[in-house]
Amino acid sequence: MKNILDLNLSDLKKWMEDNGESKFRGKQVFDWIYKKEIFDFEQMTNISKKTIHKLKEFFYIGIPEVVEVFTSEIDNTKKFLFKYKDNNIIESVVMRYKYGNSICISTQVGCRMGCKFCASTVDGMIRNLTSGEIIAQILKAQDEIGERISNVVLMGSGEPLDNFENVLTFLELVNSEETLNIGQRHITLSTCGIVPKIEELADKKLQITLAISLHAPNDEIRRNMMPIANKYSVEELIKSCRYYFNKTNRRISFEYALVKGINDKKENAEELCSILKDFSCHVNLIPINEIKENQFKKSRIDDINRFKEVLTKCGIETTIRREMGSDINAACGQLRRNYIKK
Ligand code: SAH
Repeated sequence: MKNILDLNLSDLKKWMEDNGESKFRGKQVFDWIYKKEIFDFEQMTNISKKTIHKLKEFFYIGIPEVVEVFTSEIDNTKKFLFKYKDNNIIESVVMRYKYGNSICISTQVGCRMGCKFCASTVDGMIRNLTSGEIIAQILKAQDEIGERISNVVLMGSGEPLDNFENVLTFLELVNSEETLNIGQRHITLSTCGIVPKIEELADKKLQITLAISLHAPNDEIRRNMMPIANKYSVEELIKSCRYYFNKTNRRISFEYALVKGINDKKENAEELCSILKDFSCHVNLIPINEIKENQFKKSRIDDINRFKEVLTKCGIETTIRREMGSDINAACGQLRRNYIKK
């Protein structure tokens, strides 16, 4: 049995033809799933019983089950714990902004990057998600909230560039008019910085936003936070970002999680300025989410503001990430870990 969400429309049209059906049945099935959010072949009323029977022999519609949902009373952020057919659990978060609904989705079950401040990586990586499993998070979330989702960030659990092929297939699928028609400029991919993959992505010349989890201005500090820094230096990473910018003309967004006493000093901000100046980019400062698996503590508000001021003075566009759903706060990977432990 195959997950029909792993197919694009031409795959399904081909399957229809190979199975003695006319091609346009493919489009009808896609409309039911992606436009009408019907996730049961039996309910597709313009498809004959015979065809439904055949479809059910080959395919299932791989929509995850909601095991838990947490809704913020402050800003209506919704955190979903989704369970796939094989019982693996991941998290997706829907955030409500003035400009529309945005979803943060996962690309792997767990993660093997080992960032020391992140809960998603504590038990390592279980498996990659397929393109269909990635898009299914958006489908199910839309169905749950009863509204369209217009923006997607690949910032849930997993390292997207460690699941490169499936993520690329997903990007193509979600962008297509026949499915959710979400524009590339409404999609952000966040990576801990796998340099060769950033360059490979640049060569695809997509119009998505690339976000880099930089978190440190130099190798020494970065290596204390992120194992990937042992493999690629900050210098190599920034060079690959320049390459991405030159190929796509898309401004890079740098994420910088502020940790008390580790990377939040004035001199750290100054060093960050020196490596990013004369590069058209954006810095997003993230007060770190404290998790019980480690000792990293959130920076003091004064230090966060000072950090921002130093960057802004040196001409770097800087924002402090607004905390969404702070009353249901569970840092990346926390919900899943708590659930599994239970
Ligand atoms: N693997 C990708 C995407 C998933 S992590 C990446 O590293 O970018 C999404 C973002 O959340 C990254 O910037 C990551 O560094 C950050 N993050 C992880 N744990 C965090 C925590 N406890 N507090 C704040 N940000 C965290």
